Amino acid sequence: DPQTIGDIVRHQGRERSNSIAFEYEGDVLTFGELDRRSNRAANALASLGVGKGDRVAYIGKNSHIYFEILAGAAKLGAVMTPVNWRLARPEVSYVVNDCQAKALFVGPGFAELVGDIEGQLEHVAGIFGSEAPEGKYPGYPEWRDGFPDSDPMVPCAVDDDAVQLYTSGTTGYPKGAILTHGSIFSSRMNERNAEDLHDWQKTVEGEVALLAMPCFHISGTGYGLGTIFNGSNAVVLPEYDPSRALDLIENYNISKIFMVPAAIQILLDHPRVREVDFSNLKYITYGASPIPLELMKRAMEVLGCGFVQMYGMTETTGTIVALGPEDHVPEGSPRMRSVGTPLKNVEIKVIDADGNEVPTGTIGEIATRSPKNMKGYWKRPEATAQTIDPEGWLRTGDAGYLDEDGYLYIQDRVKDMIISGAENVYPAEVENAIYSHPKVADVAVIGIPDDKWGEAVKACVVVKPGEQLTEAEVIAHARQHIAGYKCPKSVDFIAALPRNPSGKILRKDLRAPYWEGRD
Ligand code: ATP
Ligand code: MG
Repeated sequence: DPQTIGDIVRHQGRERSNSIAFEYEGDVLTFGELDRRSNRAANALASLGVGKGDRVAYIGKNSHIYFEILAGAAKLGAVMTPVNWRLARPEVSYVVNDCQAKALFVGPGFAELVGDIEGQLEHVAGIFGSEAPEGKYPGYPEWRDGFPDSDPMVPCAVDDDAVQLYTSGTTGYPKGAILTHGSIFSSRMNERNAEDLHDWQKTVEGEVALLAMPCFHISGTGYGLGTIFNGSNAVVLPEYDPSRALDLIENYNISKIFMVPAAIQILLDHPRVREVDFSNLKYITYGASPIPLELMKRAMEVLGCGFVQMYGMTETTGTIVALGPEDHVPEGSPRMRSVGTPLKNVEIKVIDADGNEVPTGTIGEIATRSPKNMKGYWKRPEATAQTIDPEGWLRTGDAGYLDEDGYLYIQDRVKDMIISGAENVYPAEVENAIYSHPKVADVAVIGIPDDKWGEAVKACVVVKPGEQLTEAEVIAHARQHIAGYKCPKSVDFIAALPRNPSGKILRKDLRAPYWEGRD
């Protein structure tokens, strides 16, 4: 069985040459074309001096071309590193230099940004517009077509580096997680061969999936590599747009989508959502940040498809734990607060500060071991050693607990935990309580300095348009749902919460003004 990106692309190119791999803005890329073009891409990259273990960077919105270049790089044993296009210029040059990219591909609209930082890029030997010439940069397709479509046949092993994804930077500076071919595919192979395989765990041939999340995130790159592996068709959206997602669901027989909760929220807020026929949509898988229960219930009512929650991180090549459709019930069972049970071949344990396993039901840090774990952080041996122990257990940085049935509950980030007096308060729980107030549009909870308690709970609330809400009302509402010590002592009303592209609340940005000079 093919187990590396190169071998899988070769295999699909032979087995289903004329089936559609990707559709992008009216352009169709078959598996046969993907195979041949990625050979040309490999030969083109080799002419720049790109070889085994070298990084190749891409900054741009989602496109089928991204996967073509990724596959071409993989056929040389080189490693695609997608760069978050929402980053500011210094952050982009940081990532491109950090991974020592030898080639850089620039998507439509990003030539100016790259032009501004070009002088700082230390290792880049060639810059190309990924879809067409961009500004002063020549177009990759024309360049690629000048090279033969013969396969370079560079040997590649399952534990060779395959892609390097930077973490979202929710809690600090983004770190480059090295994912191997094995971490991307080995567990998929097992999933595919498993008898108890769930329909929602994969797309199958003939099925159309919507790739709506960004490829600089595991939810985009992992999803696209998954559809290549399964030989199914992925319709690629350059960037998430609820109106376009609704059009595609209606007109393209989309049966599966992965969305972050923030994307589900804006889909539900779209004026056309009640008119769209969702009967072809089988499953929405969702994850990457906590989902408020109220939002989940509304999504189930309006969209009517199956839902599967996924928990994972960049460092675990995405999903390691999932909550299946059977646990999503309209009334909202207690299990809907859980992220589910580990996937096959994934081990989960909950540990204390010393690394010892804690009893069932006790909150601690979640650790995991599976073939999906990353090899390590790129050029950060210390961070890697702090994250993965010698037995291969990876500390997630998330606090949570397991129940008697093996369901995992995420409490919050270990770093975001608020220590007020002797009590630990997890912001997510407080946010859930406040979010259930009908006038609250959005909420984030942080700890701020407090002379008596060390930290005090503060809620930052966005009120729904046209509504009025007071600090006392917010606190009183929280008191009805959670213990007094968890309730906010103060409330800030703000226009919008700072979020990253996955919709994760950047609590570090909300905390910053309060902790200036103290943290
Ligand atoms: P950084 O590590 O740079 O601070 P990040 O942790 O947000 O950023 P990702 O790897 O994209 O970067 O996200 C993984 C994290 O997302 C997990 O550790 C967890 O905190 C959160 N997460 C993922 N899935 C879920 C889920 N289903 N429910 C709640 N939180 C989730
Ligand atoms: Mg993280």
